Amino acid sequence: MSRFRLQPTPTQERVLLEHCGHARFVWNLAVEQHAHWRSGRKAAPGYTEQCRQLTQARTANPWLAAGSVIVQQQALKDFAQAMANFFGRTHRRPTWRRRGRNEGFRIVAAKLSDVRRVSRNVGEVKVPKIGWVRFWWSRAVAAGVKSYRITRDRAGRWHVAFPVVPEPISGPGAGAVVGVDRGVAVSAALSTGELLSVPALRAGEKARLLRLQRKLARAQRGSIRRGKVKTAMARLSARETDRRKDWVEKTSTRLAREFDVIGVEDLKISNMTRSAKGTVEAPGRGVRQKAGLNRGILANGWGLLVTRVEQKAPGRVVKVDPRVTSQRCSASGVVDREARESQAAFRCRSCGFATNADVNAALNIRCAAGHAVAARGGPPLGEPANREPQRDLLLVR
Ligand SMILES: [Zn+2]
Repeated sequence: MSRFRLQPTPTQERVLLEHCGHARFVWNLAVEQHAHWRSGRKAAPGYTEQCRQLTQARTANPWLAAGSVIVQQQALKDFAQAMANFFGRTHRRPTWRRRGRNEGFRIVAAKLSDVRRVSRNVGEVKVPKIGWVRFWWSRAVAAGVKSYRITRDRAGRWHVAFPVVPEPISGPGAGAVVGVDRGVAVSAALSTGELLSVPALRAGEKARLLRLQRKLARAQRGSIRRGKVKTAMARLSARETDRRKDWVEKTSTRLAREFDVIGVEDLKISNMTRSAKGTVEAPGRGVRQKAGLNRGILANGWGLLVTRVEQKAPGRVVKVDPRVTSQRCSASGVVDREARESQAAFRCRSCGFATNADVNAALNIRCAAGHAVAARGGPPLGEPANREPQRDLLLVR
């Protein structure tokens, strides 16, 4: 996403807030519908059914009908995508949106003519029921924008964000295969032996966060002081997120450029086998680390990394069944549960091969990816298949 500061007039801001309110209302209704669902009951309504219900609700509620149907339908579509992500085990279950906290809405299928540059530093975006809203043209807007999201942060600032789909990058074309494993202590281990870590907060920043947390615990609910502490904490966590995203961009570019085939684990399977306990064949890895809050953050970064690699190296990513990757020796192929000497060290008792445990897993992923490519007839070369990624159409039917 590339984000720009939106500058609505007070009148426009009022309608923008209404759009946000409608989107939030529709989203929360969908959350509630799905919260009542239990296995064994009739399936909770899907997107199509919810759209039909929305039409009925608009007929019954004039205040809802007065709003933009595009905004409201898109909220349902976003929810459907969120549920698909949840069932795909890459995201947590969608939750309630709260006033003042999660304000925003999305517009899809915007026309090219819906974004324009008015002057050197000013652009405009066309919003349903409002018309042109100005934004600060702080850098180039990607060509061919088809959707955008408008948000209001807790400090009351408005932003418009356009999704940026990265251009495909050519691989070296020599059939180079790499396996990438999602490590716990390290963020990604490559079969080349390289260990890559997501930059975290620096020691000083961590200490500051801790101090702020203590301050927050002492601050009175609803006080100005509390608000200030919260803003400071939000700023720190935003910094962390920025660093993580930056790392993802750099790493995915590198992988797409240096390798023709990139093997990764299939998240849908891996989350099952890598549950905290694991199974007899595959005891859980990184049990303690994955149990904490950190899990969601790590998972998020990983999901984004895979998405970006798929966009930058279309058709060159191979998803591999991750079972046994942590117990199998990548040198001799022997599966040995005792081979893990510690969280980090792998030593095969059959052939004596020893390496970092995550690198061993990455080597197994590389091997499986190589087999998968051979089975479908030779390695795809580094030619970028110029396909348009259709994320919006992928999961929502
Ligand atoms: Zn071995």
